[in-house]
Amino acid sequence: MACDKRFEILFEPVKIGPVTAPNRFYQVPHATGTGFQKPQTSASICGIKAEGGWGVVCTAYCSIHPSSDEEPETMDVLWDDEDVRSHALMVENVHRHGALAGIELWHGGSTCSNLYTREESLGPWSRPARLPTPVQSRRMSKRDIRAYRRWHREAALRAKRAGFDIIYVYLGHEYLLAQFRSSANQRSDEYGGSFENRLRLTRELLQDTKEAVGDTCAVAVRYSAAGSAADGEPVFEEHRSMLELLAEIPDLWDVVVDDYSLELGTSRFVKEGALEDYMSWVKQVTTKPVVTVGRFTSPDTMLRQVQQGVVDFVGAARPSIADPFLPTKIREGRFEDIRECIGCNFCYPFAVQAAPIRCTQNATMGEEWRQGWHPEHIAPKASERKVLVVGGGPAGLEAAVWLGRRDYAVTLAEARNELGGRVTRESATLPGLGEWARVRDWRLAQLKQLPDVQILLDSTVDAAQILAFEADRVALATGATWRKDGRGRLHDKPIPGWQDAHVLTPDDVMDGVLPQGPVLIYDDDHYYMGGVVAEKLRSAGLEVLLVTPSGRVSSWTLFFEEQSRIQARLIELGVRIEIDSAIMSLAAGRAELACVHTGRTREVEAASVVMVTSREPNDALYHELCERIDIVRVGDCSAPGTIATAVFAGHRYAREMDADEVLFRRDRPRVS
Ligand code: ADP
Ligand code: SF4
Repeated sequence: MACDKRFEILFEPVKIGPVTAPNRFYQVPHATGTGFQKPQTSASICGIKAEGGWGVVCTAYCSIHPSSDEEPETMDVLWDDEDVRSHALMVENVHRHGALAGIELWHGGSTCSNLYTREESLGPWSRPARLPTPVQSRRMSKRDIRAYRRWHREAALRAKRAGFDIIYVYLGHEYLLAQFRSSANQRSDEYGGSFENRLRLTRELLQDTKEAVGDTCAVAVRYSAAGSAADGEPVFEEHRSMLELLAEIPDLWDVVVDDYSLELGTSRFVKEGALEDYMSWVKQVTTKPVVTVGRFTSPDTMLRQVQQGVVDFVGAARPSIADPFLPTKIREGRFEDIRECIGCNFCYPFAVQAAPIRCTQNATMGEEWRQGWHPEHIAPKASERKVLVVGGGPAGLEAAVWLGRRDYAVTLAEARNELGGRVTRESATLPGLGEWARVRDWRLAQLKQLPDVQILLDSTVDAAQILAFEADRVALATGATWRKDGRGRLHDKPIPGWQDAHVLTPDDVMDGVLPQGPVLIYDDDHYYMGGVVAEKLRSAGLEVLLVTPSGRVSSWTLFFEEQSRIQARLIELGVRIEIDSAIMSLAAGRAELACVHTGRTREVEAASVVMVTSREPNDALYHELCERIDIVRVGDCSAPGTIATAVFAGHRYAREMDADEVLFRRDRPRVS
């Protein structure tokens, strides 16, 4: 298909040193939770991105030596020649579609704990590791520095042998080269202290890498253009003058910022293209191509940044995860088909937990190899079954879309007069979650293209109606309801006295009920809900006390680079916060709290309580019918979870219709 004329510039080839990218779509290195343990999974993710039109596809961070080990976080490795084959697999998958393959060589320095390798970690000075392990690094001697240069050179040569086109020198974030570059590096030798000295190792590494592989491979630098940003005026400190000194040495600048919570900001706090103010100067000081990220999903923003000379490439991690076919869709002018990233960061925490990547919008992410799922294609139907999907939330919508694409006869019945379920309610009524509506919107746009999928709104179906419909299969996707009685992680039984208190749930708040103040929000859920409800009620002028048994507000969001921003916002708004505390009992107007460590109790005033503890699956219809008809529970109505889990469940239901039950494929360690 011919390219939409307006966007032609995005599809021009761009030279990067000795290689040429076929277009300006550049998937920057990002974690996939696959690492060296799951090379097939990783290679397939990359192959699909190349198939979807990304002109450059990069690996996750790749350790060059056992002294750089962040396990249990998953990382790629290139420690010896045996590792070359795993990487060659990725390169072959990427080259098959005409894209360039990039590898981000990495040494974490003092951040590493080396739990797997048991090597001592290394740094310009001896410093505690980043993770809460009692580890401190060894101050690198000149001999260590020489060894490090050798490891990097050897890794670059292996990368070249694996077939990579772009090889990174990683000067970004908080890793080894950034530790040397930091003004905290006060070594007394030629690698510390002065500005030039702190850059010396980077310079040497760039020269080494260019000499070793620069004849056929481009050498890229990942570089932080600004210090810890904390929003507001960008602080460039030495970042600009250092880049100026190295400006023409690498073949490409991949620009980031030190502050992950900005670079990888959730949509609740950070909007599209947010790095522009921090890095727009870079192209003024180098003639080399520049790429940056910005959770770009709008083709107009991409176009503007390229046309205005802010960047040469449209860089992406999350947009390429949510839609591996984003470039192809832009080229073909299929804008309504773009599955836009919602900025929830659900793709991020699992790498830390050594689980493969997943995505709220793209249920196939991470399943390309092990289940053979493709983000755009699905097998045609294998029977003439008639399917009834009850409930039009993320699970029901996803099931209907993909069953419809398979050409099954599908009817979707929804009780409300609008589709989207929790996504519609949460995005419309809770602060900062507006972009989450994209989960609904993409699916509605797809359903428009599937006129044979019958949609019934305002249709609360009961057991008799389900039986009367005579579907061959029924998917119950009726969601879940927040519990009022306080049962959750800490309390297996209802909290004593809850019926005497004025208790509400997030469902009530989303329905527009405004509690009386002072209001106590009890968060034993630990994800986003407690925090957003607190923000909403405080912004409405109520006195709010947030109580949580955890040591932090919304503690699971720590893995999303979001937690600190949430807590800061609540503090700024004047929400009172009581951590490490649980509700022991309730009475009219009062709550008894206990410290989770000492058990010491105290009473607080609470005209109302919003209970954010756990949800009750809406599965009554299932229990009524499961012995009589072919019915299954899908999504929150089966096991209440995240939006991503509900979408995945709906997708899986559609994929597995009329399929044999098979265990997914596993990357296996070689046993010799
Ligand atoms: P999930 O995240 O699993 O998709 P949601 O709670 O987002 O769950 O969506 C469930 C949807 O099911 C809601 O839109 C709700 O209105 C709808 N629903 C619940 N019970 C019925 C029912 N008996 N008949 C039709 N729709 C229902
Ligand atoms: Fe975007 Fe969320 Fe998917 Fe990550 S998980 S790519 S943030 S939609």
